[in-house]
Amino acid sequence: MSIPRLCAAMVVTLALAANSAQILAAQAAPHIVTPGLQQGSEPSKEVKLERFDPDLVDKSLDPCNDFYKYACNKWLGANPIPPDQVYWSTGSSLELWNEGILRQTMEAASKNGSGSTAVQQKIGDYWTSCMDESGIEATGLKPLQSELDRISALKSKKDITLEIAHLQHLYPGAWQAGDNQSNSPFFGFTGQQDYDNASMVVGALDQGGLSLPSRDYYLNTDDKSKELLSKYRVHLQKMFTLAGESDAQAAADAGTVIELETAMAKAQMDNVKRRDPKNVNNKMSLAQIRELTPSINWDAYFKAVKAPASDHYIVTSPDFFRAEETLLTEHPLPHWQTYLRWQVIHRSAPFLTKAIVDENFDFFAHTLAGAEQQLPRWRRCVHAADRDLGEALGQAYVDRAFPPDSKARTLQMVHAIETALSSDIQSLSWMSPATKEQAIVKLKGIEDKIGYPSHWRDYSSVKVSRDSWLNNVAQASSFEFERWVAKIGKPVDRSEWTMTPPTINAYYDPQLNTINFPAGILQPPFFDASKDDAVNYGAIGMVIGHEIIHGFDDQGRKFDAKGNLRDWWTPEDSKLYDERGKCISDEYTQDVPDAGPGVKQNGLLTQGEDTADNGGMRLALAATEASLKQQGKTLDDKGPDGWTYRQRFFLASAYAWCANVRPQIARLIVTTDPHSLPVFRIDNVVSNMPEFGEAFSCKAGQKMVRANACRVW
Ligand SMILES: [Zn+2]
Repeated sequence: MSIPRLCAAMVVTLALAANSAQILAAQAAPHIVTPGLQQGSEPSKEVKLERFDPDLVDKSLDPCNDFYKYACNKWLGANPIPPDQVYWSTGSSLELWNEGILRQTMEAASKNGSGSTAVQQKIGDYWTSCMDESGIEATGLKPLQSELDRISALKSKKDITLEIAHLQHLYPGAWQAGDNQSNSPFFGFTGQQDYDNASMVVGALDQGGLSLPSRDYYLNTDDKSKELLSKYRVHLQKMFTLAGESDAQAAADAGTVIELETAMAKAQMDNVKRRDPKNVNNKMSLAQIRELTPSINWDAYFKAVKAPASDHYIVTSPDFFRAEETLLTEHPLPHWQTYLRWQVIHRSAPFLTKAIVDENFDFFAHTLAGAEQQLPRWRRCVHAADRDLGEALGQAYVDRAFPPDSKARTLQMVHAIETALSSDIQSLSWMSPATKEQAIVKLKGIEDKIGYPSHWRDYSSVKVSRDSWLNNVAQASSFEFERWVAKIGKPVDRSEWTMTPPTINAYYDPQLNTINFPAGILQPPFFDASKDDAVNYGAIGMVIGHEIIHGFDDQGRKFDAKGNLRDWWTPEDSKLYDERGKCISDEYTQDVPDAGPGVKQNGLLTQGEDTADNGGMRLALAATEASLKQQGKTLDDKGPDGWTYRQRFFLASAYAWCANVRPQIARLIVTTDPHSLPVFRIDNVVSNMPEFGEAFSCKAGQKMVRANACRVW
């Protein structure tokens, strides 16, 4: 939790969560975008993967004016966003392709008879339960009733503690912490590595309690924000009504939920402040926590979630817990029962009947993110299974889609890019020898993880049946919640991954000092075994460089080689670094016309990702040059189709990011996501690089030749 997990993120879910650091996929629909029950296109059995093709360049445009457009315009024009998507990129076909493999795996498992293995039984039964729309419809809201009855039976505010613990078990990712806040009723709790002693896992409490994507959605006062909040109120009313309340009761309850969630939003630390680990590294003893929020019975809570004793606890934002204490004191039990009922209805919504799913889609996916149509059922089931049983399914994916050759070539590229960073560090004019030495120690300490974990997660304790999808989700969620909590007090398992193998994304974990590239992204258009090095370094090489640079971005640099939050910089070098970083954050504090009039990016939120994009592109280019040199070639030699290798590198890089983006999701990304939108991930980066201007003979004064170019790495 809490630590930026800093990932490259190419497609798919913007998962607000993961653990001990967070996964934030750059682009595309956040996980609140819940694919629906309806139709949608059937997957073609043969999804065609996108592959880099320089003929896609729009030669009627000037590369020195807007390079992203130059490289992507034709593709963007030929690939409008399908109605069930909010974001459509060159990586989207890969997403479908990966999901097709998972679907086939689960369909086959669901047909297996008595001879199937335990893993096959689980994924087959999970699939059957999720695809059983008529069964889910027939069961109606019955699965909800026992949960709502539990809440009605609460006798006093003292009973709230155990209800929180209960609910945190039931829903996917509810307990986890993300960039903005944990997506959990009241607060989040998990086990995470200690900031100051990376070999120790301690209990960590995080702010939480909201249903909208971030505190800004409750607190901003511009017209658009007010409109969205009033639509949220209508959504709350409809959902309460669907759950059986009278109109008057539903209207009153909607008001109560908004009042409580807004108060929690106000108490939350904002997402810029949360980027700095020093701000969230607040150590407390159990006695101090008891004192912080006495209305919560912490001893009973920790017992209920089976938390082992912790040396100390990390409380990311003590102010939030102080405010929660005030709220618990001031509001009567019925208000909290309303809030808890909402948690049950809202978090169960994706797994219930069509009417509930449709309403959930209408607000969270349509209004907030811009989707016109729900995803087909099979895709929703694939996403859920990947989340709930990811490493069981992932084994089949790796067998089918990730040959050893791909792993070997990727690892070779990783090593070449690490070598490029080593040379870069040695050559920096502004960094002292003392800091350089430490930087090299950290670089050498990075562990490279490619494709899939060295051992697979054991799901044997997760009970999966064909009867109830909601119940299967709850079983898997409880397993995951308890798995993380059980880490407290135990040695750190460095081999674990927090992304599943088919994921189209990558991450750096500052507390483990590892870079991780799931097999799912090591496919076209990112990695293409049929293409030359210039193309592969431009696409996946830029991503690899990005993840490595995260160890040295404005927050990553605060951790040492072992993952401890320890300052290894001389004060003078630190100051010089911050000046360079400020250049980046100033540059990226920019208007975002694609997200609507007046929407501005906050360069302080995106600084780490932007630094990684810029450094990553430079490292990948340097590695390309070194690779060509070994073949007796230079960057300015002509490649196979008439473009120089330098040009092919930049074109392939841009091609990997071509994306049509709906304005609603653009706004959501700008508000909550530390990654810049694709156009900036290309245009801002190349405009900071004289090497780009050389490639396309740009002149001073043109947009892609920035007068005040920024460079950190
Ligand atoms: Zn990143």
